[in-house]
Amino acid sequence: MPPPSTATVSESTLSTLKAPCPSTATDAYESEGVACPNQAVDESLRPLPSPAALKAQIAPTQSERQRVTQSRDAIRELIQQDESRLLVVVGPCSIHDPVAALEYAENLALLSRRFENELLIVMRTYFEKPRSSLGWKGLINDPHLDGSGDMATGLMLARQLLRDINALGLPCAGELLDPNLSGYLVDLLSWAAIGARTSASQPHRELASSLDLPVGFKNGVDGSVDVATDAMRAARHAHHRVGLDDRARLVASISKGNPDCHLVLRGGHSGPNFDADSVLGASRQSRTSGGPKRVMIDVSHANSGKDPRRQPTISSDVARQVEHGAPILGVMMESHLVAGKQHLDGGPRGLTYGQSITDACVDLATTGAMLERLAQAWRRLPD
Ligand code: PEP
Ligand code: MN
Repeated sequence: MPPPSTATVSESTLSTLKAPCPSTATDAYESEGVACPNQAVDESLRPLPSPAALKAQIAPTQSERQRVTQSRDAIRELIQQDESRLLVVVGPCSIHDPVAALEYAENLALLSRRFENELLIVMRTYFEKPRSSLGWKGLINDPHLDGSGDMATGLMLARQLLRDINALGLPCAGELLDPNLSGYLVDLLSWAAIGARTSASQPHRELASSLDLPVGFKNGVDGSVDVATDAMRAARHAHHRVGLDDRARLVASISKGNPDCHLVLRGGHSGPNFDADSVLGASRQSRTSGGPKRVMIDVSHANSGKDPRRQPTISSDVARQVEHGAPILGVMMESHLVAGKQHLDGGPRGLTYGQSITDACVDLATTGAMLERLAQAWRRLPD
């Protein structure tokens, strides 16, 4: 096994890496207290710890848990009725280096305190990447960035990093891509996205319906807002569903329905949808389907044509709409320590520290200016 590419991980993350982890199927059975079947176990399978085992290994303190509850409640209020601040979900497209992510988080925590009266800032901590066809699938899937697929380590790194970022007082946001994995991390998230490629998926809608946290549904990659309003309607309801419990047993359960869902406009094949008409139309659709009035605008992805240089212009346009009273809940941005993106083709060696290996991002200075402009728009609103 090659050494992790994250050679300079923080101490807590390092101790996580050193913690025992089942390396064979037999170890995994034993660590779960389950008798190993007599017949030969397929050693090419790499069993994972259960969510309960990982949560026991990387357990948040009571005050960290309380902080997650408080930020979920604050976001819920912004979605439901409180219009006292804008919600901003900002951070790297994906996390591939926990050390750089933590350095980013330290800087974002300062910005979040600077703008706390106008903006509720949540950091994008995206560990699973949906791909249109092929590509690196995120830190959980491939933490060593070399195709070795060491998911047990990926899960540990992701969970430890969520703890480290929450400890900075910064709430975390993630995309829930594989419903099997949500139990490992979701207790440390304050907001979750269902992405453009999965808003139409019944299992993802049912997953959202089972969660006790606010969920943003992206419009479809074709630009369809209907798919997201249908998703919100489905997620608000209770469902009989199949999923894994904390001990990783497949169970039938009943979700309770999630009232805290909202739309995220990310543009689509048909073009951007951050303009005032699209925002008003989407807000109407959200209301008609029983959802909230305010919608979030993703200033990256198909709204920016994935050109990060357009993110500040779009964000200023959104700020102008906010000044005119548009029904805008907040903004999503893709941002990292270093602007742009780089290719992983050559493997983990030689990567530029703090630069995205998935979608291109704006840098920290640009992020600060974008947040300042949004905060200014909010300050200008009459009480
Ligand atoms: C993302 O947020 O990085 C992402 C993949 O978004 P979307 O689902 O809108 O493509
Ligand atoms: Mn992205």
